[in-house]
Amino acid sequence: MRHAFVKSRKVGILRVVPGGLKVRFHGVRGSTPCAGPRFERYGGNTSCVSVEADGHDPIIFDMGTGLRPYGEEIMAGGAERFRGHVLLSHLHWDHIQGLPFFGPMSRPDATLDVYGPRQEEGPLDEVFAGVMRPPYFPITPDELHGTVRFYGVGEDHYPVNGAKVRSRWVRHTSPTIGYRVDIEGFSVAYVSDHGPGCSDDADDFVPPGVLELADRVDLLIHDAQHTCEEFEAKRHFGHSSIEYALHVAREAGARRLVLFHHCPSHCDDDVDRMHRQTTDLADRGSGTLDVYAAAEGLSIELAYDHT
Ligand SMILES: [Zn+2]
Ligand SMILES: [Zn+2]
Repeated sequence: MRHAFVKSRKVGILRVVPGGLKVRFHGVRGSTPCAGPRFERYGGNTSCVSVEADGHDPIIFDMGTGLRPYGEEIMAGGAERFRGHVLLSHLHWDHIQGLPFFGPMSRPDATLDVYGPRQEEGPLDEVFAGVMRPPYFPITPDELHGTVRFYGVGEDHYPVNGAKVRSRWVRHTSPTIGYRVDIEGFSVAYVSDHGPGCSDDADDFVPPGVLELADRVDLLIHDAQHTCEEFEAKRHFGHSSIEYALHVAREAGARRLVLFHHCPSHCDDDVDRMHRQTTDLADRGSGTLDVYAAAEGLSIELAYDHT
């Protein structure tokens, strides 16, 4: 029995792979949403990725604006009582703005458990409510019809909805967490908003926590906001170049790498070029590593091949 791998465009709603895993990309942009014909193929919504497995409620990485269309799909699928789990990387706008527009939370019987980075300023729910309240937004999380519960986490292991979740601090401009989810025999690591440039580390250093998250993982979703040329001028933004994302994948022995958190100033052709460059670099190394560029509507299925 071995892993089979299927990459496909969106073909339906909430159909999960029997005995496998479906990882779907609803928002792949970093920093701020963008729109227009130049962004048509990769999409303009910000960070949101779902992990769906047969018999499990969805696990959602981040609540960027991509959470809104994901919610629309769930509603269109006629889901009964909604229950979901969010693994939130950090509180920057591009990772939280989808929550008030997440349709399933308009129902009183819905619940959303949000795990996110512990904050020095106070409990996570209170800190989150500091940005989702008047005059910034008309309502607070408590005023959504469904129930949102927040859990502040750090370097932890914990079960979430039948999955084994591991969280580790990663280097960014505010407290930020990377996650690894092991479920149904497959593993996915999500390290969005991570870069070597906002630390004193050497540029090729990969912190042990990041290596742990990505250790021989089936799918590594990693920040790849900059081209190698752009990185020097933007290193303090706390993001990675495509070269560094590839370096992390190689060092950790990841099986597949997804370039994620595209810069809003990169049009479709730019992302194509970055994807090609990364694939070329990957092909020059030893071993095999499949490289993908995240796109809205991309669905990656991990399943057992019984042939
Ligand atoms: Zn971001
Ligand atoms: Zn950020």
